[in-house]
Amino acid sequence: MATKVLKRQPLNWLDNTYLPTLFTGLWITSRHFFFNFAIQTLHLFGLMKHIRGSVTYQYPEEQRPLSKRLRTRHRLTQREDGSPRCVACMMCETICPARCINIVATEHPDPNIEKMPKSFDLDLGKCVYCGFCVEVCPEDAIRMDTQILDTAAYSRQQMQLDMTELLHPRSTHLYKTHKQGQPAER
Ligand code: SF4
Ligand code: SF4
Repeated sequence: MATKVLKRQPLNWLDNTYLPTLFTGLWITSRHFFFNFAIQTLHLFGLMKHIRGSVTYQYPEEQRPLSKRLRTRHRLTQREDGSPRCVACMMCETICPARCINIVATEHPDPNIEKMPKSFDLDLGKCVYCGFCVEVCPEDAIRMDTQILDTAAYSRQQMQLDMTELLHPRSTHLYKTHKQGQPAER
C-alpha cells in the first residue's frame, strides 16, 4: 500500500511568537463569556427565553439531567409480593464479560416457578456497564434504570451489591441523593 508523506509547514516568525494562537483562544473564551452574560441578563428581564444560556451545575448538590436511556446502577425488579422476578436462569452471569455477577439458585416455593436466587451478588467495581445482563434476561428481572451514577466507596468490598441492595437500590450505602429520574420500582 502506498504511503502518502505529508510535509509539515514550517512556522513563520509570527507563528513562533504564539500570539495568533493566544489571541484566537482569548477570542473564543471571551465570545462565550459575553454571549452567556448577555443571554443570562436578558433572561432576568424575561427576554429571549427561547435561547438557552450555558449554566454551571453546582455538583454534587445539583445533578445534571440524565437521559432515560443512560445505563445507570442495576436493580432487580420485583413481583407483586416483593420477591425478585429473577428465576436464577444464570444467563446474565454467563454472558457478563466482566464476570461480576454471582448467583446461587434455590427451589422456588411456588411449583409453577422452577427456581429463584438464594443470593445474587454484583461487583460494581468490575462491571463495565455494557448492559448485556439486561438484554439477555428473559424475565425483565434486571434493569439499569435507577439513574444512580455515584458509586464512590472507600473499599472494593463496598462496591459489592447483594440481593437486598439490588432490590432496593436507593437504600444502599452507595446511594447518594439524586434529584432526577426516580423510576417506580416494581
Ligand atoms: S452491565 Fe455488563 S459488566 Fe455489568 S453486570 Fe451487566 S453484563 Fe456484567
Ligand atoms: S438473566 Fe434474569 S432471570 Fe436469569 S439469572 Fe439473570 S436476572 Fe435472573
